[in-house]
Amino acid sequence: MIEQTLIILKPDTVQRGLIGEVIQRIEKTTLKIVAMKMVYANKAQAGEHYADDQEWLMSVGEKTLKSAEKKGIKLSRTALEQGQWVRQMLMDYITMSPSVCLVIEGHGAVAKIRMLCGGTSPQEATPGTIRGDFAIDSYMLADSSDRPVQNLIHASGTVEEAKREIKIWFTDKEIHVFKRVDEDLVYRKGSS
Ligand code: ATP
Ligand code: MG
Repeated sequence: MIEQTLIILKPDTVQRGLIGEVIQRIEKTTLKIVAMKMVYANKAQAGEHYADDQEWLMSVGEKTLKSAEKKGIKLSRTALEQGQWVRQMLMDYITMSPSVCLVIEGHGAVAKIRMLCGGTSPQEATPGTIRGDFAIDSYMLADSSDRPVQNLIHASGTVEEAKREIKIWFTDKEIHVFKRVDEDLVYRKGSS
């Protein structure tokens, strides 16, 4: 199925000069970049992107508690409190300097891009993934430094999430319709 997904190359990617490295990995898959721009996000955009949504706050919080538990650490915050705390820090992170936003389109784009990104915590992300290869941050280092995990890239988690997020960062006119030269091969139909 042809899908669209939103990617944000977060401020650490831009500050570290890794924009080209990361985009190259995405382009080489044959997925298509259909929109791209540099954005100095404001608090309103950040607040919309990291929505004050109970389900998302709980999922972020629970992921952190589980990771701490695995290391034998007991956190004092509940999952919801942890999620709310992370949300506040994410809004500072994403607005601290410019990011690069892209819409990527193609067969199975959402899941494929998530696999290229790797796990949320770069310390545990598989080598070969963007977060695994280009960063070393962890929940522990982030939490003890009062900031979110710096993991270079955001990618939508589902097709529905992508539809909501793309609208925050792009107008319809900024999303382009065109053909890459390799599409005839990638989406080739057999003769039988
Ligand atoms: P993203 O949504 O950015 O693609 P993800 O889906 O892997 O990442 P989420 O659980 O949605 O991860 O968390 C959103 C972001 O919040 C993470 O990318 C990370 O920067 C930050 N984050 C999540 N949990 C924590 C935590 N416990 N401590 C610090 N930062 C966190
Ligand atoms: Mg997410």
